[in-house]
Amino acid sequence: MQRKRTGRRLAPRNKASRVKHVYGFDEVRRAERAAGTWDGVRALLGGKGANLAEMARLGLPVPPGFIVTTAACKAFLAAGGKFPPGMWDEVLTAVARVERSTGKRLGDPDNPLLVSCRSGAKFSMPGMMDTVLNIGMNDAVAAGLARLTGDARFVHDAYRRLVQMYGRVVLGVPDEPFEHVLATHRVRHGVANDADLPAAALQAITGEFKRVVAERARRPFPDEPIEQLRLATMAVFKSWNGKRAFDYRNAAGIPHDLGTAVNIVTMVFGNLGQDSGTGVATTRDVTTGANEMEGDFLVNAQGEDVVAGTRTTLRIQELARLMPRIDRELRAIARRLERHYREVQDIEFTIERGKLWMLQTRDAKRTAQAAIRIAVELARERLITRAEAVKRVSPDHVDYFLHPQLDPAARRAAKDDGALIATGLNVSPGAAIGRIALDADTAERWAREDKQRVILVRPETKPDDVHGLLAAQGVVTSRGGRTSHAALVARQFGKPAVVGIMSLDIDLEARRVRAPGGRMLKEGDWLSLDGTAGEVFAGELRTVVPDVADPHLLELLKWADAIRRLGVWANADYPRDAERARRFGAEGVGLCRTEHMFFETDRLPIVQAMILAREPRERAAHLARLLPMQRADFEGLFRAMSGLPVTIRLIDPPLHEFLPGHDELQKAVVELETRLRLRDGDAAELARTLEAKRRLLEAVEALREQNPMLGLRGVRLGIHMPELVRMQVRAIFEAACRCAKDGVRVKPKIMIPLAATSSELKVERALLEEEARLVMRELGVRVRYQIGTMIEVPRAAIVADRIAEYAEFFSFGTNDLTQTTFGISRDDAETGFLSEYLQKGILLRNPFATLDESGVGHLMALGVQRGRSRRAGLEIGICGEHGGDPASIAFCHRAGLDYVSCSPFRVPVARLAAAHAALGAARDQR
Ligand code: PEP
Ligand code: MG
Repeated sequence: MQRKRTGRRLAPRNKASRVKHVYGFDEVRRAERAAGTWDGVRALLGGKGANLAEMARLGLPVPPGFIVTTAACKAFLAAGGKFPPGMWDEVLTAVARVERSTGKRLGDPDNPLLVSCRSGAKFSMPGMMDTVLNIGMNDAVAAGLARLTGDARFVHDAYRRLVQMYGRVVLGVPDEPFEHVLATHRVRHGVANDADLPAAALQAITGEFKRVVAERARRPFPDEPIEQLRLATMAVFKSWNGKRAFDYRNAAGIPHDLGTAVNIVTMVFGNLGQDSGTGVATTRDVTTGANEMEGDFLVNAQGEDVVAGTRTTLRIQELARLMPRIDRELRAIARRLERHYREVQDIEFTIERGKLWMLQTRDAKRTAQAAIRIAVELARERLITRAEAVKRVSPDHVDYFLHPQLDPAARRAAKDDGALIATGLNVSPGAAIGRIALDADTAERWAREDKQRVILVRPETKPDDVHGLLAAQGVVTSRGGRTSHAALVARQFGKPAVVGIMSLDIDLEARRVRAPGGRMLKEGDWLSLDGTAGEVFAGELRTVVPDVADPHLLELLKWADAIRRLGVWANADYPRDAERARRFGAEGVGLCRTEHMFFETDRLPIVQAMILAREPRERAAHLARLLPMQRADFEGLFRAMSGLPVTIRLIDPPLHEFLPGHDELQKAVVELETRLRLRDGDAAELARTLEAKRRLLEAVEALREQNPMLGLRGVRLGIHMPELVRMQVRAIFEAACRCAKDGVRVKPKIMIPLAATSSELKVERALLEEEARLVMRELGVRVRYQIGTMIEVPRAAIVADRIAEYAEFFSFGTNDLTQTTFGISRDDAETGFLSEYLQKGILLRNPFATLDESGVGHLMALGVQRGRSRRAGLEIGICGEHGGDPASIAFCHRAGLDYVSCSPFRVPVARLAAAHAALGAARDQR
């Protein structure tokens, strides 16, 4: 038969175009020369292409193929969908090389070459872009291939897959009409699975698919293989800008201007009989991190059968039994790849008639738990250094351990009540609670607009669901395996997920879910899932936060501690917080907000009476009642932190915060007056209550300020009401002396809030020292202590040298410092205009969450420099919320602070972030 060569004539080489657009898998060295670094190679060839070429260089079995570069994609998109000059000729040359090395030819019925056309960007975007397989099929090729293989069923199946994929990807024909054709044939032949359809049926289906394409796309399916390849390449380029890919990049923080490469690879077939198969695996278990290969495979199947979850896959461990030689070869390759990349790999392979082919390798996505274990074990195996292990773990990974899990008691009770409705694959750990949403759009809408917590429940996990998955607390699917797309995405974004619950019947029409026992749940009902155990419960279960006792985490944090320079302290008001913080690795208490104890129910009435007291004797009596309570608080803190510094801040908030609201009181007074007039109740009792309320109202009115945040608070309050501060200092020193007597090593640091001038400190300091001396003399014990201040207003930072005369340490109160530097209220902004500012890009980050380096940070740097200019070696920390934020921690490291102080639950994260800061600084210095 005369072969048509339409479009294959090679144009003469354009000497002027020096840009190389196409690289063979055997040309990785040239790519390295062009791109400079391996990172550059990945940017140019995409991750998949670069790794295929690298595997070829390692001598691993990779089917022949080549890569069209991301630069060509960018040029194509920039030119409005036109290949850059010379690119197509290079593709044709590369096809000719593949033909030579395989001995097969595209479109040759006697020995046809079939290729796949796969997307592959620099960063993995699983399933977010397009792929076309089996390019090269037409009627003549199919007939020839059937003769060659003697397997007409396989050939027609491959052919119909090409037409279907081509229709969908290249011409945008929806899945449904193809599915309809398949379903009709399944019914006609009485089979449940496409895999059971006979060759003749598949041949007929291919014809019908072609009609579907012609009708829906108004153009025929092209018979010419090169034309198939050309259009598929264009479609893959275009899929870079598809909605799925766009949404994914936004969520994953991948830039939009990288473009995708196209990998054109000789097809190998896993569906050529019992000695063929295909699978996906990770070189270690990416759920737990255990050092054992994990994955799924199928005998006599194509790759998509494994990920689609339409056939029940076999665990990779079964490979040793079914194909021992292949299993040995695969394991050796897995080890080789891990050693080569010094990282756990996610691999795809196909076995074609007893020959193993590697189709992909890439760094494997993993759960937080696995990330930590893998990093630690790779370092122990000396594949990476400890510093690299620390760098590979992100603050979010550590944060996972501090995240809610289902409360064991609640889980047991739920099981006893029969609320455990199903179990499936535990693909992404942690607990998620929310209302059932049955499609991604609903999940997104409920989460965004109605601020609801939702669980996305879907029959299968498709890349199209990514926006719903990101909006949801967690994901449940009835199909799909460990390596299904949504499972990967869930793991990457730390969303708990349970997939592959075959027994869950999800009715998208009736919007309800039938659990195996027959229990029916409606969309909108509560669901709780445990991604660690793979369990799904009806209802809203209680959650608990796991303890940070994971041995790998502890080890990694120890390594981080050896790297970091910043100290990590904790903000702790109560002994139990301090104990927890210490367990998490805190090296001191950086802030105890003493007023928090005043709000406790047994204390608030005393605090109120103290505030309302009309004369000093009365106030002193109430303060005397508060003294033992505060002393007990401080004793607890000192004991919990024996040997470590405890920073106790003197009273800070305006007094009205301890009293009832003005309007509420006024209403109560009016109401009581009316009831008294109408004689509604016991007159004497009503009169007594009215009198008490009136006094309270008077006091509240007297203390009322227009701007309490800028009013009588902080050191000003201390100066205004010295007896209150004296009581606090007495409590601190009585507690410290008692503890010291018991052998506790106390290191009290008394911190004065919101100072703006050095004279405020001078006055306050004199008072504190006098009281401290008094107590120590009374008790006959001496304890060493320090007096310092918070830097919370710009003026304090500016005159830090004068402030340092009276302060032995500084702690930046960046909540207030941000508020006073920006002049925006920390209490109102975040629920008000700040979100508008962030949406409109007026502010890039919430300055109350991440330090505003150029403004607030500038003041801090000034404060550090001026403070230390007056007092060399002045100890400086931070105790605002920013102390637990990784980016802010990096800034604090650079600004030369001594420590960060954050909430106990952020301590492990801060230890890691401080190590990252040190490693980053080391890199910057290099
Ligand atoms: C601060 O202002 O940063 C601070 C730690 O104090 P508070 O939040 O109690 O005002
Ligand atoms: Mg403050």
